[in-house]
Amino acid sequence: MSAPVAIDPAKCKGCSKCVRECPFGAMRMNGRIAEVDGAACRACSACVKACPFGAISEAKARRWGAADLSAYSGVWVFAEQSGGKIREVSYELLAKGRELADSRGCRLGAVLLGSGLPPEAAQSLVAHGADEVYVADDPALAEFETNAYADAVAQLIAKYRPEAVLAGATAIGRSFLPKVAVRSGAGLTADCTALEMAAPAGGGAKILHQTRPAFGGNIMATIFTPDHRPQMATVRPRVFRAAPPDASRTGKIVAEALAALSPAFKTVKRKASGENVDIAAAEILVVGGRGLKKAENFALLEKLAAKLGGTVAASRAAVDAGWIPASRQVGQTGKTVAPRLYLSFGVSGAIQHLAGMRGSDFVVAVNSDPNAPIFQAADVAVTGDLFAVAPALLKALDERMA
Ligand SMILES: Cc1cc2nc3c(=O)[nH]c(=O)nc-3n(C[C@H](O)[C@H](O)[C@H](O)COP(=O)(O)OP(=O)(O)OC[C@H]3O[C@@H](n4cnc5c(N)ncnc54)[C@H](O)[C@@H]3O)c2cc1C
Repeated sequence: MSAPVAIDPAKCKGCSKCVRECPFGAMRMNGRIAEVDGAACRACSACVKACPFGAISEAKARRWGAADLSAYSGVWVFAEQSGGKIREVSYELLAKGRELADSRGCRLGAVLLGSGLPPEAAQSLVAHGADEVYVADDPALAEFETNAYADAVAQLIAKYRPEAVLAGATAIGRSFLPKVAVRSGAGLTADCTALEMAAPAGGGAKILHQTRPAFGGNIMATIFTPDHRPQMATVRPRVFRAAPPDASRTGKIVAEALAALSPAFKTVKRKASGENVDIAAAEILVVGGRGLKKAENFALLEKLAAKLGGTVAASRAAVDAGWIPASRQVGQTGKTVAPRLYLSFGVSGAIQHLAGMRGSDFVVAVNSDPNAPIFQAADVAVTGDLFAVAPALLKALDERMA
C-alpha cells in the first residue's frame, strides 16, 4: 500500500525520532534509514513534524476519482419509487436539490430506475423541480437489487458527471448508495440533516456543505468533499419539506439504455411483512417511552391514537425492552418524524430521541419529572403521572366526540 509520507534516504540520519513519535507504530528503522508501513500510517504527519532533518514529507495525495473537478456539473436526486409510485422522500430531496442547484447556478437532474414505469412517474419529478429525468427502464431493475441499482447509477454518473448526488437515507438508499460511491471513486456522507452550497473557506466555487450529527448526536459536523466528484449524501425522510408540484413546469425526460447490469440475486417471491406502518409519514404520533413500564400499557396509547387518527411510536428504550417493533422507533437510530402533533408519554427526551422529532410542528409531552429534557422541546409540558393523564385525556376526547 502506498504511504501518505515519503522519506528521503539522503537526508535521514537514523535518529529514529519518527519511530518514537508515531502514535500508530507505522514507522520503523531499516538499518539506519527510517521506513513507513503504509498499511498502519494514518497520515497524521507526526513524523513529518518530528524529523529534525526534514527527511520526511507528505507524499502527493493519492487521487482516485475525479481529476478534473470542472468536468462535473449539476445536482442529482435519486428518485425512489415503489410500484411506479414516487416515494415522498424523493420530492423532499428535489425541493432541496432545486435550492442547491439554483444556488450553484446549475441544473437539477433526477434518476429514475425500474421496469414498466408509468410515464407520469417521470413527469411528477419534473413537476417537483427536475430539469432532466434520466429513466432506466430495464427488467433487471424491476425489483430493488443493490448491485443492479449501484451498476445503473454508477454508469449514469460516469456518463453525465453530476457534481452532487442525493438519495434518501431509506433502506434502499442506505444499502446501494455506498456501492455507487465506491464505484464512482467518491465519498458519501450518510444521514445528513442540512445541506448547503457555499464557497470553501479558502474561496473558490461553491461546494456542498453536508451537515450531520456526530459523536452520538452531541455535535453537528459539516463535511466537505473538496477533491472528488460527485459529492454524495443521503438524507433521512422528513428532514426537508417537499414543494407542491407545478404541473406547468417543463423538463427533459431522457430514456437511458444501460450496459448489462449484474444483480447478485433474483427476487423469487414477494411477501409483505406483518408491520406496514410508516411513522415517518404520520401526521399525528402518540409516542411511548420507558415510563409506560410494560408492553401491555401501550394499549392505552393505541386507544388514544385511534381517537386522534394517529399512529403509535416509541423511544428506543421501549423498543429495546421488546414492547413495540423497531419500525416504530423515533430518533437517531430510528426514524426521523415530522408530524403535525407529537404527543409523548413517559419519554425523557434524550438527545438521540430529540434528533428524530425536532421537525414536529406541535409537541405535547407528559412526564412525571418536571426537569425532563423533553419539556425543552415541548410546546405544552404536562408534569404528571401518565397513568392519570392519558385516561383523563381519553375520557375528555370521548366526551367531546360523543
Ligand atoms: C448511539 C445511540 C443511539 C440512540 N438512538 C436512539 C433513538 O433513535 N431513539 C431513542 O429514543 N433513543 C435512542 N437512544 C437511547 C437514548 O439515549 C435514551 O436512552 C432513550 O431515548 C430513553 O428512552 P426513554 O425516554 O423512553 O426512557 P428514559 O430515559 O428511561 O425515560 C423515561 C421517562 O419516563 C418518565 N416517567 C416514568 N414514569 C412515569 C409516569 N408514570 N408518568 C409520566 N412519566 C413517567 C421518567 O420521568 C423519564 O423521564 C440512543 C442511544 C445511543 C447511545
